[in-house]
Amino acid sequence: MTTTTDVDPLVARMRPFGTTIFAEMSALAVRTGAVNLGQGFPDTDGPPEMLAAAAEALRSGQNQYPPGPGVPALRAAVAAHQRRFWGLEYDPDGEIVVTAGATEAVAAAILALCEPGDEVVCFEPYYDSYAASIALAGAVRRPVTLRPTGDGRYAFDPAALRAAFGPRTRLVLLNSPHNPTGKVFTPDELALVAELCREHDAYAVTDEVYEHLVFTDAAAPHVPLATLPGMRERTLRISSAGKTFSCTGWKVGWASGPAALVSAVLRVKQFLTFVNAAPLQPAVAMALALPDDYFTGFRAELQARRDQLVDGLTAAGFEVLSPEGTYFVTADVTPLGGRDGVEFCRSLPERCGVVAVPTQVFYDDAEAGRRLVRFAFCKRPEVIAEAVTRLRRASA
Ligand SMILES: *Cc1c(COP(=O)(O)O)cnc(C)c1O
Repeated sequence: MTTTTDVDPLVARMRPFGTTIFAEMSALAVRTGAVNLGQGFPDTDGPPEMLAAAAEALRSGQNQYPPGPGVPALRAAVAAHQRRFWGLEYDPDGEIVVTAGATEAVAAAILALCEPGDEVVCFEPYYDSYAASIALAGAVRRPVTLRPTGDGRYAFDPAALRAAFGPRTRLVLLNSPHNPTGKVFTPDELALVAELCREHDAYAVTDEVYEHLVFTDAAAPHVPLATLPGMRERTLRISSAGKTFSCTGWKVGWASGPAALVSAVLRVKQFLTFVNAAPLQPAVAMALALPDDYFTGFRAELQARRDQLVDGLTAAGFEVLSPEGTYFVTADVTPLGGRDGVEFCRSLPERCGVVAVPTQVFYDDAEAGRRLVRFAFCKRPEVIAEAVTRLRRASA
């Protein structure tokens, strides 16, 4: 007799999702002593005032369950921040909910809004949690492929986006600035997404965790989809402190939108984590109110790191797709004799002591990303310099 102890206990809908590529590649980095440009976390701390505020909150007894929607100071700061940078108005009481990172906000949004069989339009390569959250909800992903255009950027076929929308479309999940490609969606592209949402009466869930990382040479600035005509009322706008304030381990995120959407997210979220990070929430509130200098300085620093890595990868022979935003640069490994990004990344630590991530694992159409790999540049200059030296040695 087969018993429950003999079979894989995992539910079928999660079986296609193995260990994340980040865990595999980070373990490889540790085992081989390689420079890890795989996972996108900074190796320096965020603003000292924010860290001091968190320490103070810990010591002053803010260590119990905060209110379900988040501490009032943080919700007020999230509202003020969106007004200041994007001209978007949200009521801190009812139109904003604090979550355990952007990841929980995305998961709760999909679980709250999608019936089994509902379709979610998303752009591939996609952030790895999207596919898993869609699968957990029993929903169906309808990916639209971003492809290199030959001028160092990525774009999608508008007809493919149009074709991805249909009678079962419940929402579009849009990440701009986009991980892993570093693409910032252009005004025309955003207008088409908005038009299709209105035409199909679909919601939009936007992942804008890189809202402050659009470089000064980007073709267009970042524009939140919620600012387009007819979109505020159907958009749930998600961001988080992790990327903007170099505190990816804090997992303090938020979702903003019309009260009905935010309330739906809260209904699910209260049974996922209920609440999180009580003493970190007031610290993030103070960080969101930092003067403009912080945000421009942070962007300039990352842009310099981007240039350093792009130059280094180019010198090492990669065909580089220069990003307009985010923490990441993607590159084609073909000029280095690579035919498959997964093989390339598995052998890279042994060959030269650097870890990167193959982006094909973020596509349904693996062929589209076959030869592309992603490097993170949210690292100290000396770390990037060392990685570049090693990569050049490998290609010599
Ligand atoms: C890092 C990242 C997240 C995760 O944000 P958390 O606040 O750490 O949950 C979500 N989306 C994208 C595109 C990311 O790159």
